[in-house]
Amino acid sequence: DVVVVGSNMMELTTDVDRMPQLGETVAAPSFHTAFGGKGANQAYAAAQLGSKVAMISVVGDDSFGRDYYEHFQQSGIDVSAVEVGHQANGVAPCFIQGNLNSIIVVQGANAELTPAMVDQHRDLLAKAKLIVLQQEISLATDYRVIEIANEFGVPALLNPAPANDEINYDYVRRVQFYAPNETELGRLTHLPVATLDEIKVAAHQLVADGVQNMIVTLGARGVLWVNATTELLIPAETVSAVDSIGAGDAFVGAFAHYYTAGSDIPTSLQQANHYAALTVTKPGSQTSYPRADEM
Ligand code: ADP
Repeated sequence: DVVVVGSNMMELTTDVDRMPQLGETVAAPSFHTAFGGKGANQAYAAAQLGSKVAMISVVGDDSFGRDYYEHFQQSGIDVSAVEVGHQANGVAPCFIQGNLNSIIVVQGANAELTPAMVDQHRDLLAKAKLIVLQQEISLATDYRVIEIANEFGVPALLNPAPANDEINYDYVRRVQFYAPNETELGRLTHLPVATLDEIKVAAHQLVADGVQNMIVTLGARGVLWVNATTELLIPAETVSAVDSIGAGDAFVGAFAHYYTAGSDIPTSLQQANHYAALTVTKPGSQTSYPRADEM
């Protein structure tokens, strides 16, 4: 079983001809909502592939929160640890002008996912085969989850997105998988990450610092796995890309699925690399994640 502890966000996407100036109102051609948020995306990907997935998350006390709760249920995600907070649901208003995005992230009820709430779901975490974490909730909550994971001997994967320079490496060393994308790797190490060689140097530095397994997603270049004894680059599959929104979350969720289904690390990476490539051929995040029978 996969347990994802993390965020859910309602994406509020507006296509604009141009952005308004401060104080100005403009008409825009279209608007749509979609289910997003890194934690929820990753849970959704694993569930689409057939994993038994539980989510520890907080939805808002509003219509978006109710919609999201229902969406979790309809996706086959266990909602026994999804709580209804006091604040509005997390939202991500996003403005698309041509091929440029402007995005605002409002954490909302995701801020109510506290260490104390995690403590109430220790039993669920103890039963997991893999616990999946990101950084759209407070670091203190991630740290508590890592403590509980270690206590019960459950492996954890931390996707440090969005990157946060204040991350405490005492905790990072205690997760089995640390999975940034190349940009996040650059921010975390303050090293150049333009070329593959530079990326390898940066990943090896974190392993030298005690990180157990680095999984670095490289967009159209694929994925790199580095640990104390291994360096493996899996090139991306060639697809006709529509957009890579949510590809990293699809990768993490798919890796969690295949790894907990019994594949070894390199096989799980290969399978996740295939799944993430498929999601790049369709627009949006969760809307682009196929079920196993649709692949
Ligand atoms: P993020 O969404 O965090 O930026 P990446 O862009 O690194 O994540 O993409 C995650 C994974 O998705 C990659 O490791 C790869 O497997 C797949 N992927 C992303 N872009 C492409 C692409 N253009 N072609 C094929 N696969 C891709």
